[in-house]
Amino acid sequence: MLRRALQLGLGRGFWSRGLGTRRGGSTLDWDGKMLEIKKKIQSVLPGSAWEPLYDTSHLPPEHSDVVIVGGGVLGLSVAFWLKKLEQRQGAIRVLVVERDHTYSCASTGLSLGGIRQQYSLPENIQLSLFSADFLRNINEYLAVLDGPPLDLQFNPLGYLLLASEKGASIMEKNVKLQRQEGAKICLMSPEQLRNKFPWINTEGVALASYGLEGEGWFDPWCLLQGLRRKVQSMGVIICQGEVTRFVSSLDCMKDVDGEEVTLKRIYEVHVKMNQSLEYQPVECAVVINAAGAWSGQVAALAGIGQGPPGTLKGTKLPVEPRKRYVYSWHCPQGPGLEAPLLVDTSGAYFRRDGLGHNYLGGCSPSEEEEPDPGDLEVDHDFFHHKVWPPLAQRIPVFEALKVQRAWAGYYDYNTFDQNGVVGPHPLVTNMYFATGFSGHGLQQAPAVGRAVAELVLNGQFQTINLNAFTFDRFFLGVKTEEFNII
Ligand SMILES: Cc1cc2nc3c(=O)[nH]c(=O)nc-3n(C[C@H](O)[C@H](O)[C@H](O)COP(=O)(O)OP(=O)(O)OC[C@H]3O[C@@H](n4cnc5c(N)ncnc54)[C@H](O)[C@@H]3O)c2cc1C
Repeated sequence: MLRRALQLGLGRGFWSRGLGTRRGGSTLDWDGKMLEIKKKIQSVLPGSAWEPLYDTSHLPPEHSDVVIVGGGVLGLSVAFWLKKLEQRQGAIRVLVVERDHTYSCASTGLSLGGIRQQYSLPENIQLSLFSADFLRNINEYLAVLDGPPLDLQFNPLGYLLLASEKGASIMEKNVKLQRQEGAKICLMSPEQLRNKFPWINTEGVALASYGLEGEGWFDPWCLLQGLRRKVQSMGVIICQGEVTRFVSSLDCMKDVDGEEVTLKRIYEVHVKMNQSLEYQPVECAVVINAAGAWSGQVAALAGIGQGPPGTLKGTKLPVEPRKRYVYSWHCPQGPGLEAPLLVDTSGAYFRRDGLGHNYLGGCSPSEEEEPDPGDLEVDHDFFHHKVWPPLAQRIPVFEALKVQRAWAGYYDYNTFDQNGVVGPHPLVTNMYFATGFSGHGLQQAPAVGRAVAELVLNGQFQTINLNAFTFDRFFLGVKTEEFNII
């Protein structure tokens, strides 16, 4: 390493990194020592000028117990909980590798910021219940010494889901379960709906469910930055670079049927540095795949899905980027401050954005309409054909509105069953997933981070059992289906 560093001309940064910043302070006179070393090098290389030396403090460390791929809300939440739950302060070294510190294409900052407990699976209800509690007490979890408190701008106005005759009985069943799990959700008849929200046209609505507590929306960017600030204060290293390769050791063994199984363990992660052809190898014990919409690609780097079809080795992580649009409009006569996040029977949705009669909304496309995820261009026709007509029918004042701006972002879309993937891979035994939430990953990040940290530190889920979310289901063909995907 020393020889390599010298060949590359990494003088000062190399020394100071090894001896100072990263591994604790020192009282020795390193400046004096550096001068001596400099003189020695000059004496063996007569005539060569002393080059200014590069600062390598931006490089990841050579070893880290845990390497987290992806510094979005899920990766940072796992980092937070690993440090919070570690037995002894400083016991484990955690590195988060994020390739784009501006997060220009990451889902977290482009999301709508919604949180709800109106799901059909107990796991999803529990995850969002805990997250609501986490958000409510955000400054107890994420406060840092001398830092200003976080203002999440949480609007606890609830989700209002509308059901047609066809969907009413499922809605009733779901709400019963949500209540059993502890969520505060009520059912409303069309008449009750008209009384409470007179701006809604209830034609075609048979039933509505409305969140009375713990539901609404908040500022996703604030949560992301709050987590970043907190984990850095806890000693987590966040480095800018792209994970491009995993180096693994193999272990062949026989299963109960006498068939050969090859287990893999990643022992080195290659991090390609920004605007450079170089990579930095990082030795590690555990890798967390929290690469969001790109986590399928990251899994493939570890050989996941690269075997014969129909085998466990050939089973891919079915998570891919799916483009979703958010439109912002102004409507002077639009619903006021009491308006919840409304999801129409058609699937189109909207919520208020601030106090000035501005609104955000959209609609997920059908499988046939899925746009090309190759870029983040917005399709404005989609608003005119798919979003506006149903919303204007439901909220007649939206007949007159003016679209102001729009953006697109990627869902970390699980094509198998649109639910999260949590836990280790059965063959690449030290790669853990925290991904695939298909449109509800922001709100579940606080609880999912805790679940993954429990698995890594204690070998099992301790607070919420997420066995239904593990990778095995893709191989076994057993879906963990959630009916309330928006
Ligand atoms: C339009 C839209 C609306 C949404 N609305 C909601 C909502 O209302 N409520 C809700 O809960 N969720 C919502 N979501 C979903 C939510 O945003 C995501 O589920 C969540 O943000 C996923 O977080 P993440 O950390 O996994 O992904 P990201 O935020 O995308 O972070 C993943 C990171 O991994 C990095 N990365 C990828 N590959 C590599 C690599 N090889 N090396 C290094 N870094 C890498 C990327 O740069 C990225 O920053 C919405 C999403 C969209 C697009």
